[in-house]
Amino acid sequence: MPSPALLLAAFAPDGTTTFTPADPAAAHLRVDDLGATRGDGVFESVGVVGGNPQSLRHHLDRFARSAAALDLPAPDAGAWAGAVRAVAAAHDPVPELLVKLVLTRGVEGGGVPTGWAHAFVPVDHARERTEGIDVLVLDRAYPGDVAARAPWLLQGAKTLSYALNTAALRHARAHGAHDVVFLSDDGEVLEGPNSTVVARFGDRWVTPPPELGILDGTTQGRAFGFAAARGERTEVARLRRADLDTADALWLVSSGRLSAPVRSVDGAPRPVDAALSADLLHHLLTVHD
Ligand code: PLP
Repeated sequence: MPSPALLLAAFAPDGTTTFTPADPAAAHLRVDDLGATRGDGVFESVGVVGGNPQSLRHHLDRFARSAAALDLPAPDAGAWAGAVRAVAAAHDPVPELLVKLVLTRGVEGGGVPTGWAHAFVPVDHARERTEGIDVLVLDRAYPGDVAARAPWLLQGAKTLSYALNTAALRHARAHGAHDVVFLSDDGEVLEGPNSTVVARFGDRWVTPPPELGILDGTTQGRAFGFAAARGERTEVARLRRADLDTADALWLVSSGRLSAPVRSVDGAPRPVDAALSADLLHHLLTVHD
């Protein structure tokens, strides 16, 4: 069993951040850390394929935007980038890793954040990647303009408050599906609980816009790189529920699972382009950025 690796962050008053190796099997978090008691913090999960962190700059930009949305101190991008590389290098060599970056508001009343970078082997997604996934469409029960109307709901920030995301996944699994696509209450396709929707119509690849209060996906960016390299068009545009049925191909994409073709939506089978899905997965596993 390969050993995970951990670096703990220390935040100096002058804004510099340093990282120190620590035992990943030991306890490091205080019980009054606001990340644990309130989910008050932000995170990123960076895929590391063949030793190469994927879309690191994109992840760190999103980490900074999430931190800003929560009024957390701006992460020191250089220090966190170094931590990603160092913690991945400290892990036993494996084909695929995830490095989780976490920044919390710290211990209640302390005024100093808590942070760490943790490298570990993600769960095995081989079957979902190749055989495809069954998806339920679930109501996210907010309007498509939530980000502008209610920024305090933090839609579009990658916060530690993922209880509802995991509840939606449990709901799907209890109903025989693998995953979820959320719909706004005005019928806009949003995202999965931990993935981005990518649809292909002919030679046009589409993903819904972050202005709907969804994450700006790093893997979606890489999938669009694949499409562009094939000479196809890529577009950030709104999708409606019916588009999930009419798309020529549909995937949920994310840093850990990479790409999973959707083979049914709400129990209705839909076509899977197995050859194209295999090429997309191959690209995500072999082309590093
Ligand atoms: N949307 C949500 C809510 C997520 O949690 C994630 C990743 O975990 C994504 C989209 C996909 O983002 P990325 O491709 O950067 O991993």
